[in-house]
Amino acid sequence: MKLYYDKDADLDVLKGKTVAIIGYGSQGHAHALNLSESGIDVVVGLNAGNPDRQKAEAAGLTVLMNDAAAKKADIIMILVPDQIQPVVYEKDILPHLRAGVVLAFAHGFNIHYNQIVPPADIDVIMVAPKGPGHLVRRQYQAGSGVPSLIAIHQNPSGRAKEIALAYAKGIGATRAGVIETTYREETETDLFGEQAVLCGGITELIRAGFNTLVEAGYQPEMAYFECLHEVKLIVDLIYEGGLGGMYYSVSDTAEYGGLVKGPVVIGDEVKNAMKKLLHDIQNGTFATEWILENRANGPTFNAYRRLLREDKIEKIGAELRSMMSWLKK
Ligand code: NDP
Ligand code: MG
Repeated sequence: MKLYYDKDADLDVLKGKTVAIIGYGSQGHAHALNLSESGIDVVVGLNAGNPDRQKAEAAGLTVLMNDAAAKKADIIMILVPDQIQPVVYEKDILPHLRAGVVLAFAHGFNIHYNQIVPPADIDVIMVAPKGPGHLVRRQYQAGSGVPSLIAIHQNPSGRAKEIALAYAKGIGATRAGVIETTYREETETDLFGEQAVLCGGITELIRAGFNTLVEAGYQPEMAYFECLHEVKLIVDLIYEGGLGGMYYSVSDTAEYGGLVKGPVVIGDEVKNAMKKLLHDIQNGTFATEWILENRANGPTFNAYRRLLREDKIEKIGAELRSMMSWLKK
């Protein structure tokens, strides 16, 4: 696998061009500010009434309405939430697309699942930081960057890759390392990772452990510390030294118990469920579900959000964290 660094990317590719950043949320503010400080001409697209306008203007950026930003730009990076992107694209961006314009995304969902189908004479690239926008901004300011992915969906100009690499350099990504992938691979692995492991898997593992202890009569505070609070300490060790590095640091009893009993918890049933999730991601079932959920105004999404807020582990956790003064900084 090839990693691209600063020396592999040329910022001059973007000189004389205007980059429009549509949206100024987690990724949007980081891309706009980092590119601007890298010497690139940036305009931010935000429609009237968006409270982020003041923030972007206060940061010294030029803010235009979405369609004016799109009209002015040579490169248009769409950083509104994925479920909003098709509407913003149809209304504000598509009318201003002309041959030579580059359309960019930080996640492949809408292109991969055909929610946005750009004209054939438009380059379509992806520059996707593998971290939240606030980290993209903070690392850039600290002189480093967040590892990122690039992908090319359409390349009529033949220059899509050098533009993607230059953009990645402008946000600081090539300081940390950039990997080339495809829209399909990025979209499917990203959805799988967040569902099976990062967001869905971990939270349900925590909840199942917590509930098992509480239902057996142990104090919920004890269950919270054991099954939620300590997760961070263990994950930090894994992040630094891999699974083996973590096992080196814990007791032999914990190491034996973890190695031998872990596979009892995460056995064939879980692996089969993961395969089912992956299958549904690959064949578009999940995408259809999520698109229709949004069209229906999010009834299931809102119900699950409410159920989580009402869950015992969240109530206990809020109380305990309010006593942990070191968390507040
Ligand atoms: P955010 O939700 O943080 O920001 C979205 C921006 O769009 C905000 O300025 C928001 O304004 C604005 N917005 C919200 N609703 C609308 C609307 N109806 N019409 C117009 N503008 C609207 O998004 P993210 O930065 O999280 O995501 C942007 C892209 O980056 C997505 O494609 C995502 O998949 C990708 N990405 C995100 C990562 C992350 O960690 N967050 C990591 C890698 C990629 P307001 O604040 O008023 O809502
Ligand atoms: Mg992700």
